[in-house]
Amino acid sequence: MARYKGPVCRLCRREETKLFLKGDRCYTEKCAFERRAYAPGQHGNARRRKRSDYGEQLREKQKVRRIYGILEKQFRNYYARASKMKGVTGENLLQLLERRLDNVVYRLGLACNRNEARQLTLHRHVTVNGVRVNIPSYLVKAGDEIEVREKSRAIVRIADSLAGVDRRGVPQWLELDKAAFRGKVAALPSREDLSIQIREQLIVELYSK
Ligand code: SF4
Repeated sequence: MARYKGPVCRLCRREETKLFLKGDRCYTEKCAFERRAYAPGQHGNARRRKRSDYGEQLREKQKVRRIYGILEKQFRNYYARASKMKGVTGENLLQLLERRLDNVVYRLGLACNRNEARQLTLHRHVTVNGVRVNIPSYLVKAGDEIEVREKSRAIVRIADSLAGVDRRGVPQWLELDKAAFRGKVAALPSREDLSIQIREQLIVELYSK
């Protein structure tokens, strides 16, 4: 499936917030958003006109899509699924996105960003409950155990990523056993578990038009 392969820091600048798409660099002063916190392009630094309601909704949707690296069609499918679930649609949507295997691999600190987590998954370095799973969109359940295959534990970028996990932190709904290259889904993520600011209600408003 096609993916955005351009410079990711532009996406943070476009969304006017840090999306943490690069990994450790995002936590340093080299972060492009720290240095130029305005939209990319020739007129990015010009005074911005107030956005319309539609503009706000669109930007919020784009922001979430970019955080999780998901294309529009797939994102709409998540929304359709979330709206059929019990509970609040916006929260259901975020929970579905958080439950993606590539996101869980990233959140556990086995990869330093979601793109790398996606690669690790696609290249069969990860197992779920002892079974190899190479589908980044696989949805984990409470109690699932995610592990790096024994053969793959020598991969330098996995070790590098684990070395920086304390700085990034592991969310409460996951448990990490760093020495064993293993993690567990202790519970499904709740709205409070999301550290990045997202106004999911705007996405619901956009899609319910
Ligand atoms: Fe975004 Fe990270 Fe680039 Fe900073 S370094 S602009 S947070 S991707």
